[in-house]
Amino acid sequence: MSGVGVVTGAARGIGRAIATRLAADVDTLVVVDLSPALAETAVDLESDGTKVVPVQADLTDPDGRAAVVAAAEEAGDLRVVVNNAGITRDARIVNMTDDDFAAVLGVNLGAVYLLSEALVPHMVDGSAIVNIASRSYLGNFGQYNYSMSKGGVVGLSRAFALKLAPRIRVNAVAPGLIGTEMVMKIPEEIRDKMVSAIPMGRMGRPDEVAELVAFLASDRASYITGQVFVIGGGRSLS
Ligand code: NAD
Repeated sequence: MSGVGVVTGAARGIGRAIATRLAADVDTLVVVDLSPALAETAVDLESDGTKVVPVQADLTDPDGRAAVVAAAEEAGDLRVVVNNAGITRDARIVNMTDDDFAAVLGVNLGAVYLLSEALVPHMVDGSAIVNIASRSYLGNFGQYNYSMSKGGVVGLSRAFALKLAPRIRVNAVAPGLIGTEMVMKIPEEIRDKMVSAIPMGRMGRPDEVAELVAFLASDRASYITGQVFVIGGGRSLS
């Protein structure tokens, strides 16, 4: 696969692993993040020989999304879009503030929809969108805003798949517990309890998620669209 790939939330964690893996498959990577740490990611990716266009932007800001679209358009044939950027603001429902609710829905769902809509006209035939949902789309205690946002991402992926077939494939990846900074914010004793419920007996690694994303983004997945893939070490229902 040649052409251009866009990866959001690429400064660290799963997004960085996805960018690193996709670098082997595309000519140019447009990497996007709110964080200035994006610059380091870009340098690392470039040292492996990939052409990298870093865009430091807030995806909830129309100007930020416009900067991503301009960079992608300028870079060439857009073949892959990975909507990975996401946040958590967990709380029991009685403590959930309106701000926490709106922030999570805005980044995890609103920005995914708005950026995808803006990028689709620039995507070539046979291209693919991969949206990073979460296993918690099935429902997680204390994560009402997050679960709602990720359930929305699954619905959005399926509706977009219908709208864009056969030109563009759209799938969602729903990771379970993956060892990133987002997860390290969870208190250790709760994390240990979560790990004990995983049949594989451990957290997943960002590169394991990246491998699935790269497959779905590639022509090897040419007949797969509108699906959600749980990658959670066997923990998918309880
Ligand atoms: P992370 O917090 O380590 O990284 C997320 C990145 O997104 C950060 O670099 C952050 O700066 C960026 N970002 C956040 N808001 C942004 C915005 N408005 N504009 C631009 N960039 C923004 O998280 P992670 O664990 O790597 O998670 C990546 C994705 O995977 C998220 O969508 C998350 O919900 C999902 N996910 C993670 C896990 C897990 O266990 N880590 C499990 C399921 C799903």
